[in-house]
Amino acid sequence: MNEPWAGFLISSAGWQGVPHSQAIAGVREAGFGGVEILCKPGHFECANEDHIREVESALDDWPDAVVTFHAPFWDLDLASGDSDYALQALEVGARLKAETMTVHTRSVGEMGNWGEDSFTAFRRNLTLLAGRNMGIAVENLPPPCFTSREDDLLCLLDGFPDVGACIDTGHAHLGGRTVEVAQALAERAFIAHLHDNTMNDDKHLMPGQGTIPWGEVAAALKGFRGRLVIETVRIESLDELKKAIMETGLWKLA
Ligand SMILES: [Zn+2]
Repeated sequence: MNEPWAGFLISSAGWQGVPHSQAIAGVREAGFGGVEILCKPGHFECANEDHIREVESALDDWPDAVVTFHAPFWDLDLASGDSDYALQALEVGARLKAETMTVHTRSVGEMGNWGEDSFTAFRRNLTLLAGRNMGIAVENLPPPCFTSREDDLLCLLDGFPDVGACIDTGHAHLGGRTVEVAQALAERAFIAHLHDNTMNDDKHLMPGQGTIPWGEVAAALKGFRGRLVIETVRIESLDELKKAIMETGLWKLA
């Protein structure tokens, strides 16, 4: 039987500053199930061929890795009229053989700031991305962003049965609604981003280092069948992470 951590992926957010090839080999050797590659300036850029090749070749050594891809969050906004970034990210994700791509919507402004043009752009972009051999997961963002409320996010996905959600536990906790968000989105989510905080800053701590009630969250995620992504733990702390997975009860989800 596999160790429980084989059911978890590690986000590359945890190895910024460490070469992808070295970090991916470390995650594989530690027995985790795969990786999520995070687009972030200087870390992994969709337009940087060296970044793409380095990750591609590290993954060549790990053919059964499960790979997910986090599209750029600084300039890819599904609620904006610009689709180029989204399509470029999709292409890069396909090169990495990612099964799912996480995307953000507009990261500022509450629902009131979403004009008709935002909704129209969002639906047009989602239509463009959906049904192309890669799952698309729309992430809940922290308040005051529109998608911080689980019912708003579900509403956005209405009419897109092939598109899923990404449950970000830390973002939900900043709004004091971790259990509610997990419960409401569990069956509709392709990805869960697991990380902790103390409700005042999106610190991306290891599960158990903040104040998320992990036992309740794990119970709320019972119907979740997507990928469990640890976002963020420093690559040097993979052994501590294994302990955290056991102590928080998250192992039950694997
Ligand atoms: Zn996230």
